[in-house]
Amino acid sequence: MQIDADVCVVGGGPAGSAAAIRLCRLGYKVCVIERQASKRPAAAEAFPDTIIPLLDDLGILSSLEQLGFLHCRKTRLSWGILSYERPTSSLLVDRGLFDPLLLEAARKAGAAVLAPARCRKANYSGGLWTVAADGNDIAVRVKARFLVGATGRRGGQARLRPKTAALCGRWRGAVPSDRPEMRIAASLNSWLWGAPLADGTYAVTCFVDTDRCAALDRVTRRQFYRELIADASVDELLVHAELVDDIKVRDATCRCAADPVTNRSIKIGDAAFAMDPLSSQGVRAALIGGIQASIVANTILTGGDTGAAMTFYRQAQQNAATRHLRTAGEIYASQLDFPTSFWRERSIDFASHGAPRRVVPEPNAPVRLTPAARLQELPAIEGTIIRDKWSLSCPNLDRPVAWFAGIEIAPLLAQIRPGSTPLSLFSDWSRAAPVEVVHALLHWLGSEGILISDGACTEKFS
Ligand SMILES: Cc1cc2nc3c(=O)[nH]c(=O)nc-3n(C[C@H](O)[C@H](O)[C@H](O)COP(=O)(O)OP(=O)(O)OC[C@H]3O[C@@H](n4cnc5c(N)ncnc54)[C@H](O)[C@@H]3O)c2cc1C
Repeated sequence: MQIDADVCVVGGGPAGSAAAIRLCRLGYKVCVIERQASKRPAAAEAFPDTIIPLLDDLGILSSLEQLGFLHCRKTRLSWGILSYERPTSSLLVDRGLFDPLLLEAARKAGAAVLAPARCRKANYSGGLWTVAADGNDIAVRVKARFLVGATGRRGGQARLRPKTAALCGRWRGAVPSDRPEMRIAASLNSWLWGAPLADGTYAVTCFVDTDRCAALDRVTRRQFYRELIADASVDELLVHAELVDDIKVRDATCRCAADPVTNRSIKIGDAAFAMDPLSSQGVRAALIGGIQASIVANTILTGGDTGAAMTFYRQAQQNAATRHLRTAGEIYASQLDFPTSFWRERSIDFASHGAPRRVVPEPNAPVRLTPAARLQELPAIEGTIIRDKWSLSCPNLDRPVAWFAGIEIAPLLAQIRPGSTPLSLFSDWSRAAPVEVVHALLHWLGSEGILISDGACTEKFS
């Protein structure tokens, strides 16, 4: 069987499905190849609630609500000798239900979905990709102009942090709490995450150095997993509970692709950059990557600025990786009580990466841009295309910024003159932008240390 498409997406996880939905909306003929069938094993994950607007945009929020997930408002942490509670705003979701729902949304958006079908290889010649896949007893060939690689975390990627394995188990009969809460607990050479799921089971995932579970069989893996839970002192939750199924091992190593984009293909989600699960940001980042990829592909396929599109995406991936490695490294470093290589090798030095102290300027104080800020033409998203836009860049920021709440900021910043104050800028900028946006922009520029009091000394950047 042969399918002709504009774009072939290999992998129908969150990243691939998000890319497919957005590409279909842009009018492209899309084919998604997904290895797994729609019935999948349960796998618990937590999404920050900042994912909600993305789920809404992709059109699956109401179906996810019907399918069932839990809102979690509290996390109990045993972080070394410190035990404390932290307010949380997360969704506890079963990926075994979530991923098929998102893939179905891609199908409804118009994508041809081949599942279960395993992609074997993809060759490019004469301006077209030929992607070979094996479906249920049938070989499929997809011809496409652009290829999206969304196949998830892969061993062949460059490793950014020590090899980490996750041992995942689900329990029935865990001690219930009145409200859903997550548990995070550190021990000498591992950490674990526990959370209830909407089906009444309780998931516990333990993270260890991969070498420690490489040689285990089904029985010894189960023993090792139970020992890790006992070490982290959360076994009181599970005194009367029973494991629902075998312990699954997942690779949880932080990895990245050597180069995530060419002028005819792009890697997205974990295939581009796989985060440390400690952040609980992987799925949100995968959805954002899928959406960005649709804009990169659209720019290239419509004959736009291919160089700008590729630079934009490389930069976006690199910024995400830098930000993530810093945050995850700081979290590992904050656990001070277990001085083992497990924690040391995943930590970064807080002091050398801490944010500089910033003073938000007074409303009537004369202000200027920090000397480190630059306005430069850099690739940025404009609607469904990437092109060079005047953008603000500064070492304080994770990435260059061209837009703030839909408003181009370069023309506003160009109005800053000697003697400008936050109040005078508020009045000037309000002629070109809604007052609430101007208010938020001024606050953001101040709190990021970009708009500084005239006369303030130059900041030291890490
Ligand atoms: C133990 C663990 C816990 C995690 N916990 C969280 C969490 O709590 N919150 C969070 O946000 N993130 C979490 N993450 C990260 C999150 O799972 C990933 O970031 C996310 O799944 C990335 O989505 P993706 O679409 O890029 O890749 P994947 O979800 O891996 O999807 C890739 C898809 O490609 C398919 N595929 C692969 N090869 C082929 C092929 N040859 N042919 C056809 N199809 C193929 C696969 O079947 C799969 O469906 C966790 C990760 C791990 C390992």
